[in-house]
Amino acid sequence: MKAPTPMMAQYLRVKESHPDSLLFYRMGDFYEMFFDDAEIAAKQLGITLTKRGSKDGLDVPMCGVPVHSVDGYLAKLIRAGHRVAVCEQTEDPQEQKQRGGKGPLKRDVVRVLTPGTLTEDELLPARAHNYLVALGRAETQLALAWADMSTGDFLVQEMADDGLETLLARLDPAELIYPQGFDLPDWFQAGQICATEQAASLFDSTRARQALERFYQVASLDGMGHFSRAMLSASGALLGYLEATQVGNMPRLLPLTAVSDAGFMEIDPATRRSLELSRTLTGERRGSLLHAVDRTLTAAGGRLLGERLAAPLFDVAAIESRLDLVSWFLAEAACGDKVRSQLRIQPDIERALSRLSLGHGGPRDLANISNGLDGAGEIAAQIKVVAAKGMGGLALPDGLPDCLDMMLCPRGLSDEVTPALADELPLLARDGGFIRQGYDLALDDLRGLRDESRRLIVALQSRYADETGIASLKIKHNNVLGYHIDVRSNHAGKLMDHEIFIHRQTTAQAMRFTTTELAQMERDMASAADRALALELEIFDRLRSLVLQAAHDLGNAARALAEIDVATAAAQLAIANHYCRPQLVAEPVLNITKGRHPVIEPMLDSQTPFIANDCNLDDGRLWLLTGPNMAGKSTFLRQNAHIAIMAQVGLYVPAETAVIGLVDRLFSRVGAADDLARGRSTFMVEMVETAAILNRATNRSLVILDEIGRGTATYDGLAIAWSTLEYLHDASACRTLFATHYHELTHLKKTLGQLRCHAMQVREWQGSIVFLHQVVAGSADRSYGVHVARLAGLPAAVLGRAETILGELETGQHGAVDTGMMADNLPLFDYQSTALATPVAPDEIGAVLDDMQPDSLTPREALDMLYRLKALRHDPASPPPRPGDKE
Ligand code: ATP
Repeated sequence: MKAPTPMMAQYLRVKESHPDSLLFYRMGDFYEMFFDDAEIAAKQLGITLTKRGSKDGLDVPMCGVPVHSVDGYLAKLIRAGHRVAVCEQTEDPQEQKQRGGKGPLKRDVVRVLTPGTLTEDELLPARAHNYLVALGRAETQLALAWADMSTGDFLVQEMADDGLETLLARLDPAELIYPQGFDLPDWFQAGQICATEQAASLFDSTRARQALERFYQVASLDGMGHFSRAMLSASGALLGYLEATQVGNMPRLLPLTAVSDAGFMEIDPATRRSLELSRTLTGERRGSLLHAVDRTLTAAGGRLLGERLAAPLFDVAAIESRLDLVSWFLAEAACGDKVRSQLRIQPDIERALSRLSLGHGGPRDLANISNGLDGAGEIAAQIKVVAAKGMGGLALPDGLPDCLDMMLCPRGLSDEVTPALADELPLLARDGGFIRQGYDLALDDLRGLRDESRRLIVALQSRYADETGIASLKIKHNNVLGYHIDVRSNHAGKLMDHEIFIHRQTTAQAMRFTTTELAQMERDMASAADRALALELEIFDRLRSLVLQAAHDLGNAARALAEIDVATAAAQLAIANHYCRPQLVAEPVLNITKGRHPVIEPMLDSQTPFIANDCNLDDGRLWLLTGPNMAGKSTFLRQNAHIAIMAQVGLYVPAETAVIGLVDRLFSRVGAADDLARGRSTFMVEMVETAAILNRATNRSLVILDEIGRGTATYDGLAIAWSTLEYLHDASACRTLFATHYHELTHLKKTLGQLRCHAMQVREWQGSIVFLHQVVAGSADRSYGVHVARLAGLPAAVLGRAETILGELETGQHGAVDTGMMADNLPLFDYQSTALATPVAPDEIGAVLDDMQPDSLTPREALDMLYRLKALRHDPASPPPRPGDKE
């Protein structure tokens, strides 16, 4: 068998130590991939798969991407869930020659890119955190540690088994690592989070403590807080994983912080999804609460707001302190406007700092830091002036002076960095040309020499042209020959006779020569250029170390600036949308006057303005809301949940006034959805979520329930809704908004002292209904489902038939909704009598309707069913639809 070439042998050696990553193997100006990696990458990236040599008698598949455009390709692969190991040449030919080496240049993996360990702007969403999360455990205790390498945040939290899902949903990680042998719970959906199993030894808590102490260079971690063994296991594993992926090149991480969930409002994943906090049910940011309330102007501000919205506080003092800052900027509106115009051009200091600390940073990162500091300094100075005058009449918020000091603190750094940098900066330091002319005399001299030699070459060319009499003689440059004299073949004879010209190459049209003088000049030029670049890199390193020495202060300044961004953005939102400052109290009350929905209101135009509604649970903490479909029940429920969240995030809220008793846990079950990926039907999902609510809600919780018990037979559903309501009233004693179509439940007001009935107001008009979207005391007498079906465009035949059945039910069979009884008493196959306009196949349609179980259909199936019914009406030969049928 043929031995592999030395290069292939080297490739195979490197690949062996990175079996689970795609290996980007540097060869000149390309990263090449081989074997399976090449096949995967070619398919994913849509690039050509070629071959290079053979192994074991088979062609070796190969593909490659140019180094200069690698980021786009990396982004595609990482987004598709791959890990990429980047293998660079770690010596140049000169060094290889010096060490007397043969064969391929030395190469090594310098970094493994994974979804949770990215720092490049091109690979990251600017306005969201990118968390790597490690799951640690010690005996039965679990902990999650999370870090954002691009900003340096590093936190850890312990939790019970059932808290894992909630915390993961809050963090929304880019990547999760967990110990080998740990059984991921069945709710964990592979594919949503990139999760990889790692050796159990990585999670060893004793080794973790030592690794953390080494990393932070402290004799003991005690000074940073108390960390349980599970916390150590998680944070140590995270650190170890970073070491492995960054190949020893560690990022800047802030001191590890232990977080307790006692300080936050608990929001479980189902609630988070149903309230569409950071993304909609279809996964988009637009349409989410975050999107509606985010007026921040900087990437760091956007990240901070996202972080806060994901974890509303449960601490009145902390919330008030955030609100005070917003109020202050509202009172000092002109100052807020000025600050915002400066924030608009603020660069991302945190991410630039991270890249510099990892050694991936370039001149533009230095500029981002110095410009960012200048901007922060100006903003802080401006606020200080206004604060000193205090024209707005509000006391200076407690946190503001510290915030301003932090923004001013590392200012001296920009005095060092700014004068050094040129106006136009390359991305990479190795491209050179980023140090300003006049900053360093030695560098200017070398550059003069380099540029002078270039002029000398032009002069040499015209001298040679004169001396030889060949006007077209040129001095050219290419990678193989370097500088050379190029003449057309018909002139070659003249140079051949000249003894100073040394022949180098003959091509079809030209002949190429050199001279000792030209060779010397080239050496001088190269050495001047090399020395200039080396000096620039030296200056870069010096500036970079200055930045890293100030990393702590810089991090604080960036964070303080993000806070100012969030506060001025909240003030701007409050002014633009007429929001009010919520009043937070300890007692479990909820009293909102003229509340609106923060996401829906801005979407409506002036023709159909949003109708504000009160929600006052002071007098009865359980509201039972009835009303037709489309009347606005879900909107009302959600808007109150959103208002509670916004208040505890420290934002103004869409209402005229809002008094909110701190909510410890928020639960929302609004609308039904199948979760087929987890093998749960609509009804099963509904019951699992309801169980979670009933088990966890306390008397400080807020529960939003919509249509409980709709996914099963009428009696079962009613019974479940009934008992759920009683349990929430008696056992949980939480604040509850409960929307239902079961009008029977309104009778419970006689037995449940805290229950108050409310309804969505509608008006009947010319046989149709008008939704007033107004919540009023009392209960709705009917659901108007058939009216809404008419609005939705159901065929007249179906509507007429439905009205007949409804009439029968309401008059004859009131309360007895047994299909067997109905079949006897209702004219179920009486379609002919409903005067259908066009010929149909009544038996088939009737049979289909008979078979159909409306309560067990998903919305999608119901829609499919309607299409099929319509098709059947025109083409009776088509087969009857069944639940689950596909088009
Ligand atoms: P269903 O019972 O079918 O789920 P619903 O009663 O929950 O219906 P919503 O989905 O809340 O009704 O509202 C239907 C539509 O009515 C919304 O999409 C919105 O456009 C409009 N709407 C709801 N509330 C208001 C309001 N307060 N002011 C103006 N428009 C509203």
